[in-house]
Amino acid sequence: MKRRSPPAGGSGWYQERLHTHFTKKGYGQRFEVVRTIVAKRTPFQELVIFETRHFGRVLALDGIIQTTEADEFVYHEMMTHLPLFAHGRVRDLLIIGAGDGGILRESLRHRSVRRAVMVEIDGDVVEECTRHMPGLNGGAFKDPRAEVIIGDGIDYVRKAKRKFDAILVDSTDPIGPGEVLFTDEFYRNCRRILKKGGLIVTQNGVPFFQPEEVVTTRRRLGGIFKDVTFYYLVVPTYIGGMMTLAWASDAPGLRRVSRRVLERRFKAAGFKTRYYTPGIHVGAFELPPFIAELAAKGAERK
Ligand code: SAM
Repeated sequence: MKRRSPPAGGSGWYQERLHTHFTKKGYGQRFEVVRTIVAKRTPFQELVIFETRHFGRVLALDGIIQTTEADEFVYHEMMTHLPLFAHGRVRDLLIIGAGDGGILRESLRHRSVRRAVMVEIDGDVVEECTRHMPGLNGGAFKDPRAEVIIGDGIDYVRKAKRKFDAILVDSTDPIGPGEVLFTDEFYRNCRRILKKGGLIVTQNGVPFFQPEEVVTTRRRLGGIFKDVTFYYLVVPTYIGGMMTLAWASDAPGLRRVSRRVLERRFKAAGFKTRYYTPGIHVGAFELPPFIAELAAKGAERK
């Protein structure tokens, strides 16, 4: 098989494989590799961490770019601060996946959070990111409020007895270990362990290249939750333009919190961000027609 990345310690080019998986052959992004830091096969996936000139260190799993030191703030802020400021008082938080620690880091900036349980299937991701990309977790793994469990997210939600105010599903794409996190069974169990007035947000790909993910996620979540939609963000290294996160709750009012209330909550939180603002929060739900039409298709009765 053509080598996708230089061997550990080597330099050269890293060619992402995303669109050969999903859609496009002959299109993709590649990074000039200053040095490959880790290149290994874990029990779940191929894990590579490499150094670049312009994006800092980069984590790729099974050929798909997961996060880079240069632009990780976009995704990690939008997957955490938007739902947590919408809710306003998340005390018990469940994070699925998120092995690099970025979601945990941003979530724990909210003083209301008293317990954040993070369930990551691959301990090697936690270990290698802690060792080689420590800024991603920024010490969150050592926070007394954090509980890191190495296990399959679908098993956790199936057996969980405790309830959560919010569930953030920061998974890989629906291929390989991440596939189970896009199923009816997973979403039904998430709803079972959500407290009244709770919400779930899930990673939902780049609609321009993965349109079917919007349709299927809307269809699946729509059969379980009262209020389902998407919001968008733009991450330079998630190629293909806008990325969507799926939003589901049985409390439609959560999605309609006013900018004034969000401004008040954001100010009271007392921390700075580099992408999230209350204005971005409100605007992110304003989907362009090409995405809104996919969501509408998923909402159709089959
Ligand atoms: N946080 C990064 C970002 O900015 O998008 C990348 C996502 S994170 C690396 C995705 C994680 O989901 C991976 O560490 C992967 O091991 C984990 N994962 C995949 N399937 C899983 C499952 N069934 N249960 C728990 N974690 C899973």
